[in-house]
Amino acid sequence: MMRILLLGGTTEASALAKQLAVAGRDAVFSYAGRTARPVSQPLSMRLGGFGGVAGLVEYLRSEGISHVVDATHPFAAQMSANAVAACAEAGVALCALERQPWQAGEGDSWLSVTDMQGAVGALPQSGARVFLAIGKQNLDIFATKPDNHYLLRLVDAPEGALPLPDTTVIIARGPFDAAGDQALMAQHGITHVVAKNAGGVGAEAKLQAARALGVPIVMIDRPQVPDRKILRTVGEVMTWLEHS
Ligand code: NAP
Repeated sequence: MMRILLLGGTTEASALAKQLAVAGRDAVFSYAGRTARPVSQPLSMRLGGFGGVAGLVEYLRSEGISHVVDATHPFAAQMSANAVAACAEAGVALCALERQPWQAGEGDSWLSVTDMQGAVGALPQSGARVFLAIGKQNLDIFATKPDNHYLLRLVDAPEGALPLPDTTVIIARGPFDAAGDQALMAQHGITHVVAKNAGGVGAEAKLQAARALGVPIVMIDRPQVPDRKILRTVGEVMTWLEHS
């Protein structure tokens, strides 16, 4: 009997959940539980971590999971590494639904860095107006450059004080569009964008906006994840499930 665990948290995961529901598949959708109001899914849902590799192995066994689809964000490297290890241990089939990384094109001004520290290092010491498009994690790393202004776009309003002294916070959930992001960046006089190389369409708007405005992007490369089967579209995942 096929029973699927879908590791979510992305637009693509939600699109796959719809297809699985339409196809009448037996599947569980898993969220880390990072946002206050996660988007509801047409599958049975669970929330929160599994408790590392051991916890995930235990979950896979007790729930009778036969297939895992890892559709987490490309920067959720811990979850993805855990899925590789746990599926190998439990003998469960695994594939990742992962977008292609973005590539700099005509008119783009990118400075590629390997991690958050590199992104901080790439910013001026002071006077920049930075669209820090990295979500709520890792903001503290930028506190070493407190004399820049930071525009933050977050899913939920921050609970405590932010680690950065000079910020504008906008509460919004993607997908975003290029015209809206261009207006936002112009309104805030943005001089630099810091982005994770997530890939995909919904988060690409800021890149198009930066290109139109001639604003440089500090682009953070994806973290490494152990080898696994990678599929690029929801259709490819559905086909993989049909044939396995
Ligand atoms: P992470 O660092 O790879 O994961 C940390 C821990 O969170 C994992 O070890 C796991 O806990 C738990 N976890 C993560 N994703 C989970 C899921 N789908 N279901 C159950 N537990 C999960 O991940 P992260 O970067 O904090 O991202 C958390 C979630 O936000 C992911 O679902 C991801 O798709 C989404 N997201 C992340 C980003 C980003 O930039 N990182 C952007 C957009 C959306 P245990 O070890 O206890 O199992």
